[in-house]
Amino acid sequence: MTVATPDTPLPAPAEGTGATYEAQASAGLTHLGLSVAGDQLDAAAQRAAAEGWSYSHFLGYLLDAELRHRHDKRVQLNLQFAKFPVLKRLDAFDYRAQPSVDHRIIDELANGRFLSEGRNVVLLGPPGVGKTHLAIGLGVMTCERGHRVFFTTAMDLAQRLTRAVDSNRLKRAINALMQPKLLIIDEVGYLQCDPVQASLLFQVICQRYQRGQPICLTSNKAFSEWAYVFGDDAVMASAALDRLLHKSTVINIVGESYRLREKKQAGTIAANLVTPSQRGPAAGGAQRP
Ligand code: ADP
Ligand code: MG
Repeated sequence: MTVATPDTPLPAPAEGTGATYEAQASAGLTHLGLSVAGDQLDAAAQRAAAEGWSYSHFLGYLLDAELRHRHDKRVQLNLQFAKFPVLKRLDAFDYRAQPSVDHRIIDELANGRFLSEGRNVVLLGPPGVGKTHLAIGLGVMTCERGHRVFFTTAMDLAQRLTRAVDSNRLKRAINALMQPKLLIIDEVGYLQCDPVQASLLFQVICQRYQRGQPICLTSNKAFSEWAYVFGDDAVMASAALDRLLHKSTVINIVGESYRLREKKQAGTIAANLVTPSQRGPAAGGAQRP
């Protein structure tokens, strides 16, 4: 038996012979690039005959297998492209451990509307409270909706763009950062940018804003400290915040580190190592201007 590929020439159907069309069906599906439907054709046809399916039920069943397969492949590619340091899901987030995170706000984000609205998501809080977890969770959700995502830390992003400047490829590098539906910039403010890095980060924020492409950003710094983040340039910090917050959901997480909390509960560190109320960078709760 010859195995049909999309490049295999299709045999011409003989006039009026139903049997020939049956032979044509599998080769035709493969020829059209519907190989999963082609593989399932015989089994689906037998089920259809045994269970008395309508023609459209049969076709829908066959296409469903093909479409599911394509979607799964696309999600896998999206997850690879995103370069998440680790996979985290929104449903693995323990809200009882972090009462300052409003479940309803995360659920609203999980419906993906912020992606089409070009609404940014800003997660603020001290170390260990789940900012990166939530950012990756939103990223994984976005990949599963069939979109491209790119995850980077602010410092990696700044260094990547500085290298691009050195090799005269800045335009291309910035253009590449415009392509993903969601750009996640983690750890903004952990390290201070120098003036060149600050201006490059600013360009990314500006250009995604102009194109209505959302950014999900995490920071341990309150907005009032963002001049430090942008290399002590208060004007640039304020211009960046202006664009980031114009359409945004801001989530301030307050409380203690999840890791330290677990260790404290396990009794492996002294309870007094964790201050009773490790404050976030700003007042708790979430806002959607
Ligand atoms: P941050 O980015 O705020 O420093 P992370 O998101 O890296 O914190 O969280 C540190 C670790 O604790 C990660 O493994 C994360 O999955 C876990 N974690 C933090 N908060 C929660 C939570 N509320 N529920 C489940 N896991 C959490
Ligand atoms: Mg983090």
